Amino acid sequence: MSQSEPKHVYYFDNNATTRVAPEVVDAMIPFLRDFWGNPSSAYAFGAQVHGHVEKAREQVAALINADPKEVVFTSCGTESNNSAINSALFMNPGKKHVITTKVEHSANINFGEFLQKKGYDVTYLPVESDGSLDVHLLEKSIRPDTAIVSVMMANNETGVIFPIAEIAAICRSKGVLCHTDAVQVPGKLKIDVKELGVDFLSLSAHKLHAPKGVGMLYIKRRTKFQPYLIGGHQERGRRGGTESVANIVAFGRAADLAVASLHDENTRVRALRDRLENFILTNIPNTVRNGNKEHRLPNTANIAFDFVEAEAILLLLDGLGICASSGSACTTGSLAPSHVLMAMGLPPMRARGSVRFSLGIYNTEEEVDYLIKHLPGLIQRLRDISPLNPEHPDNETYDIEAAREKHETDLAEAKREEETVAA
Ligand code: PLP
Repeated sequence: MSQSEPKHVYYFDNNATTRVAPEVVDAMIPFLRDFWGNPSSAYAFGAQVHGHVEKAREQVAALINADPKEVVFTSCGTESNNSAINSALFMNPGKKHVITTKVEHSANINFGEFLQKKGYDVTYLPVESDGSLDVHLLEKSIRPDTAIVSVMMANNETGVIFPIAEIAAICRSKGVLCHTDAVQVPGKLKIDVKELGVDFLSLSAHKLHAPKGVGMLYIKRRTKFQPYLIGGHQERGRRGGTESVANIVAFGRAADLAVASLHDENTRVRALRDRLENFILTNIPNTVRNGNKEHRLPNTANIAFDFVEAEAILLLLDGLGICASSGSACTTGSLAPSHVLMAMGLPPMRARGSVRFSLGIYNTEEEVDYLIKHLPGLIQRLRDISPLNPEHPDNETYDIEAAREKHETDLAEAKREEETVAA
């Protein structure tokens, strides 16, 4: 790759990953260049590094109002999710059932499928057409052999927020462990593990302006835990492997910044997102917001552009230096429409025409102006040549109302089935 000065990137994909904050780069560099000792070593050169890992643990704990001892550093959000579910099953050998949702990140969906192959039973709860979750259904799905309920705090594709405190209270009342994947949340919403009442919570540093390759699992005090990575005594025996010191220090600094940026995300970034979304919905015909308008992250807009393929939109946007995405970065390359939008009952063609714009603290008014200037013409150009367009001679229209009705029927059927199983 060329080392020349990069072109300006109009980055609207902050749910995929975020730019490493300059303050975070400054904080981590000494641990790459000068203080590269092993934090487990007994001599001073290692011990001083250990002190910085512990300081980062305090910073990350403060972000979620946890005790530093409850914080275990991992390599990523995926590892944190897998570790929590794995531990719940290992520590409760008589319990073979896991509850999650159909709209989780592939870190949960694919792990669930792996567990099913190993003989476990996994319930993937359906969602309503606005992406919200029926908590009553969740409660009914809990069985005597349920080991853990794992529900994300906010969805990475639509930004829709789930009521984790309510879910955790249900789990407690039924003696079931509760995990939440809060990877998309830091800096956007306050996270307080005591208010949430969860047993496990996952974070990933690269979503909050720190580098990739480090994550965290919160494990509530006194929760029995089986390490997922078995090795040395690092992380108080809860995760083997030499700590990625520079990344952990970076995570700590980013945690401080995330607390400080909560206000900006909820005022300026929210206003930018709303401006972009309102512009699209009012100026580009046949566009629809996917997901509940109110209960969602302040930075995310997921919009369906009917009669065009999102991949074509993204390609043309890329040519203009604009980054956005359709679905999760982890499913890029798959031709299937987003599993999240499909679970919300969107017709496949509408799901295939949906684009996620996720903003962040480095976005400016000028960048939104640039996107707004180019988007309507770009969509029109694609619609002019799209056989999905009703005005195109080779039109293949689809019936959105019929698809919505089908989702309602399927959802009612799924709920009836769950309730029958639970009864
Ligand atoms: N959970 C959610 C909601 C995510 O958005 C992501 C990343 O996109 C992950 C988990 C996985 O995190 P990581 O990339 O750190 O493994």
